[in-house]
Amino acid sequence: MCGIVGYAGPRPLKGVLMGGLRRLEYRGYDSAGIAIERDGELQLVKVTGKIQELENRIAGMDLSGSVGIAHTRWATHGEPNDLNAHPHTGCDDRLALVHNGIIENYHALRTLLLERDHRFTTETDTEVLAHLIEEHLENGKDRTLEDAVRLALQEVDGTFGLVVIDQHHPGKLVVARRGSPLVIGVGENENFVGSDASAFAEYTRDIIYLKDDEIATITSSDYSVRTLQDEARDPVVEEITWELDQIEKGGFDHFMLKEIHEQPQTVEDSMRGRVFPDQCEVKLGGLEDVHDILASAERIIFTACGTSWHACLVARRLFEDFVRIPVEVEYASEFRYSRPVFTPGTVLIAVSQSGETADTLAALRLAKDEGISVFGVVNVVGSTIARETDAGVYLHAGPEIGVASTKAFTSQVTVLSQIALLMGRLKGTLSKKRCEGILHEITRLPEKIRTILNQTDSIIEIASVFSKVNNALYLGRGYNFPVALEGALKLKEISYIHAEGYPAAEMKHGPIALIDDDMPVVVLAPGDQVYQKVISNIEEIRARKGRILVVATEGNETIRELATWVIHIPKTLDCFYPLLAVIPLQLLSYYVAVARDCNVDQPRNLAKSVTVE
Ligand code: GLU
Repeated sequence: MCGIVGYAGPRPLKGVLMGGLRRLEYRGYDSAGIAIERDGELQLVKVTGKIQELENRIAGMDLSGSVGIAHTRWATHGEPNDLNAHPHTGCDDRLALVHNGIIENYHALRTLLLERDHRFTTETDTEVLAHLIEEHLENGKDRTLEDAVRLALQEVDGTFGLVVIDQHHPGKLVVARRGSPLVIGVGENENFVGSDASAFAEYTRDIIYLKDDEIATITSSDYSVRTLQDEARDPVVEEITWELDQIEKGGFDHFMLKEIHEQPQTVEDSMRGRVFPDQCEVKLGGLEDVHDILASAERIIFTACGTSWHACLVARRLFEDFVRIPVEVEYASEFRYSRPVFTPGTVLIAVSQSGETADTLAALRLAKDEGISVFGVVNVVGSTIARETDAGVYLHAGPEIGVASTKAFTSQVTVLSQIALLMGRLKGTLSKKRCEGILHEITRLPEKIRTILNQTDSIIEIASVFSKVNNALYLGRGYNFPVALEGALKLKEISYIHAEGYPAAEMKHGPIALIDDDMPVVVLAPGDQVYQKVISNIEEIRARKGRILVVATEGNETIRELATWVIHIPKTLDCFYPLLAVIPLQLLSYYVAVARDCNVDQPRNLAKSVTVE
C-alpha cells in the first residue's frame, strides 16, 4: 500500500525514482508524484492514475538534482486526483513531503493551522504534516530540517512513513516512521529510501530497517538515525536475502500467474530443512527456543486479515486435530479493538504475508502488552511483525508481487501444518506413527500441485463461462470451507464479480434463494470425511437447476453425472486438501479476470501491503 522512494546521490534522479516506483507498483495505488531539489529549488509533478501517466508528464523535463522523492498514493483521505496526490507542500512551497499512513488528528491540526493563516490546497490528512514542518522550520532560527520534522511529529497522532526535502536544506532527505514501513538502502556515495527494499535493490543490497519512532537524516555521503525523542541510534546494516529476478515476471503475462505456477517450488521451499519424515521430525529453527512454551500452551489465538485469515481457518482444524487444544481465529481489525480474555497458557500467532499489515501488528502488540507469548508466520524477512514477535517461522515463498495472494496462502498453510505437527509431537497428542504418515504426505504435495497446474486448458474453458456472470457461490465443508472463502475472495478481488463463500450446509439457511440456472456454484468435494454430505448439498443445487463446478478427487468419475464441470485434484489426506483444492480456484479467478480484461496484478482499490488500518 503506497510506495515511497527517495534518493540522494549522483545518478540521474528521474531514472532511480521512477524505476523505484515501478518496482513498488505491485503495492497498489491510484496516483503518483515526484519532487526533486536542485540548487535550492524544488520541482514537483503529480498526476492521477498509473505511473505511466507520470512518465508521460515528465518526459522531456529536466529533473536532475541532488535529492528527490517519489510516491504512489493509495488514497485514505480525499479522492484520488492530481491535487491530493503526493508530494505535498506547505504554504510557501519550500518543502515537499511524501507520506504513507493516516494522520488521525488531522482535522484538529488543520483547524489550528487555518487559524494561524495556513492555506490548504488538498483534502488529504497528509497536508497538515507539510504545514506543521514548515511552521517549525520558520519559527526556529537555524533550525535543522530534522528538528522541524521531529517537533512536527510530536503533535501528530496516527501512523506515518514519510520523507521530506526542503529547498533551504539542499542535498538532504529526512525520513521518519511510525507504523508504516521504511527501509534505507546504503550505497557508496549514494543512499536510498524505500517502502521496501525492492525499490532500490538493483543498486545496493545493504539495508537498514527503520524502526517505529525513528528519524533518519540521509545525504549522498552519510546517514544518521535518532529516535523521535532525539536519542542517537546505532542502526544495524543488514543484507537483502533475495535476488532481483525473483521479483521479475519470468516469462508469465502477470505476476499472479507466475506466483500460482511457483507453488510446487514455494511449498517445497517452506519445508526445506524443516521436515524429516523418516525421523518423524519437524525442525523449525525460529521456534527452537520456545519449545517449552509450545509444549505447555493451552490455547491458541490466530490473528490475521484477508487471505492470511483464511489460512488461519485451515490451521484451526489442523491444530485442533493434532494438538487438541482450543483454537480461535480472529480478524486482526476486530481483535485489536476488543477486550480479549487471555487465559494462562494462551499463545498468539500473527500471520501476514508482508509482515507489515497494520491491523495484525496492532493485534499482536495488544497481546504482547498483556504478557502473552506472540509468534509470527510471515513471508517478508525482517518485516515489522517478524521483528516484534517473540519467535516465528518465515514462509520462504520469495517476494509476492501480485496483489491477490496465492503462493503466500499455500506456504502459510504448509508452515502452519508444520507448527501443528511440531506442537502435536511436543505435547504428545499426535502419535509418532500418524505423524510419520502425515510428514511423508506433506513432502508429496509439491508434485501433486504440479499435476493440477497441468490442467490449465480446461480451467480456461470454464473461466470463459464464469467471466460472463455477475455472481458466484463457493461452497465447502470441513477443511475445505476456508477454501470456499478463499476462492470467492480471489474471484471478487481481481475480476470484480460478486462471490460468496459459504459452508456448504449453511446454503439452505439463506444463499439457496440465489440459486437459478444462471449463477454458477463452485463446490469443493474431494474424497474426504464429509464427501457424502457435500454430495447431498450438490443435489440440493441440482434440484434448483444450478450450474455446478465440482472440485473432486482423481478417479471420481461418477461426479460427472451431478456436475456441469469437474476439475480433478490428486488424492491426499483430508488435512491437505485445502492446499490442492485452492490451486484450480486461483487459476479460475486468474483466467476469469484476464477474460474480463481486468488489471490482474493491481486490481482497483486494492493494495498489497495494507499498512493503514
Ligand atoms: N493518508 C494519506 C493520503 O490519503 C496517505 C495515503 C497513502 O498511504 O498512500 O493521502
